[in-house]
This record gives sequence, C-alpha cells and structure tokens, in this order.
Amino acid sequence: MLTLGTIPERLDRVSFTHDDEVSHIEVDQDAARKTGAGALLERICPAHVYRVKPDGTVGIEYAACLECGTCLAIAPPGVVRWRYPRGGFGVAFREG
Ligand code: SF4
Repeated sequence: MLTLGTIPERLDRVSFTHDDEVSHIEVDQDAARKTGAGALLERICPAHVYRVKPDGTVGIEYAACLECGTCLAIAPPGVVRWRYPRGGFGVAFREG
C-alpha cells in the first residue's frame, strides 16, 4: 500500500539543481499590480516562490519551484511567464 508520509518525509524526496544565472519564472509587474495577482500567487504556490514586497512588487525565489504549474494555470493571463528550467537544472523527485 502506498503511503504518502509526512510533509518533511515528502520534501526529503525532492532535490534541486539550482540555476544561479537564469530564472525560469518572470512576472509582469504592471499586470500583477493591475490584477492584484501577487496576493493570489503568494497563496497558491506550494513552494512559497512568490512574495509581495512592501513596495507592491512581486518577488520570485525561483530556485524553490517544484514545477507543479499551478501559478501558470491560476494567474491571470500575461502575469506569469513560466517555462521549464534549462536542461540539467530544476527539481528532481525520487520515489521511496
Ligand atoms: Fe510555485 Fe508551482 Fe508555480 Fe513553481 S510552478 S512557482 S511551485 S506554483
């Protein structure tokens, strides 16, 4: 029987190869401000990649991205530009 385990156990199955040069996520700050999407992105991202800064802009900690695609599906059109990380970078999941 498959057991999912606790959150720490599940996160132990995730590893990242960080791309320190190129972010695979960009936010159109004007579109985010007009639509209020920053708060939405903060709430829906399971990896807490997005943070609304005191000045209202949306910060991106792309290295923590789990590549789930939720932000791309939920954000208003044109706010998030998301693509997979360059080859060899990003998240890796392992079973067991
Ligand atoms: Fe967060 Fe998933 Fe979007 Fe990555 S793809 S930034 S984990 S919502």
